[in-house]
Amino acid sequence: MKFADVTALKAAMIEVSQAVISAEPELTRVDSVIGDGDHGLGMKTGFTVLREQLSGESFHSPYELFHSVGLCLVKSMGGSSGVLFGTLFISGLDVIKDKESLNGVDIAAFFTKGIQGVIHRGRAKPGYKTMVDALLPAQSAMEEALKSTDDIGQVLKAAHTGALQGVEATKNMVSRLGRSKNFREQVIGWPDPGAMSVSVVFGAMANSLSRD
Ligand code: ADP
Ligand code: MG
Repeated sequence: MKFADVTALKAAMIEVSQAVISAEPELTRVDSVIGDGDHGLGMKTGFTVLREQLSGESFHSPYELFHSVGLCLVKSMGGSSGVLFGTLFISGLDVIKDKESLNGVDIAAFFTKGIQGVIHRGRAKPGYKTMVDALLPAQSAMEEALKSTDDIGQVLKAAHTGALQGVEATKNMVSRLGRSKNFREQVIGWPDPGAMSVSVVFGAMANSLSRD
């Protein structure tokens, strides 16, 4: 799909919600080893509320849709990642104002601003073993993909691949932020749960928007 309108984007966000809900046991398992164990349930709660809210509402633009997504996640999720995932969908809203549909260029610009917002808010540097270590490789992969395509599905597939590489890389990192900082070397070998969530979000969005 080259361009996605609000209907396609809403369907994609419902698919994202389902994927996050399904990933809960795996996220909980990992966060129980290297964090305080609440990441999976926080994500599941937020995206369950989101799925319900999206199903019952109609949106006139991608801007309205993502605005609603961001606010819902901030309100319903709690924890650091509620604010941070909300920020991911809110910080880039200016970029898509007035657009009826989004192509690969638009979605890359939207998430690039969102990622900058997450970094600004959370103050995590690359290598701190956080979701930023999945977000930044996703951003680079989108930039690279844009050299050969402006198809939204293809650009998001690149984001997913980049995020997965980031998740792999977090296995070798020691946590520098949040509660898992106290686990020190014990976290080596385990991926960061927030980074895993980022890969789930981009993966489901890419799948949904790659179908014609
Ligand atoms: P909490 O840390 O409040 O328990 P969650 O368990 O919901 O929050 O989420 C943990 C995930 O959030 C971590 O795996 C990490 O990826 C991400 N995270 C936590 N703090 C930050 C931060 N300051 N910047 C970026 N990501 C963060
Ligand atoms: Mg936690």
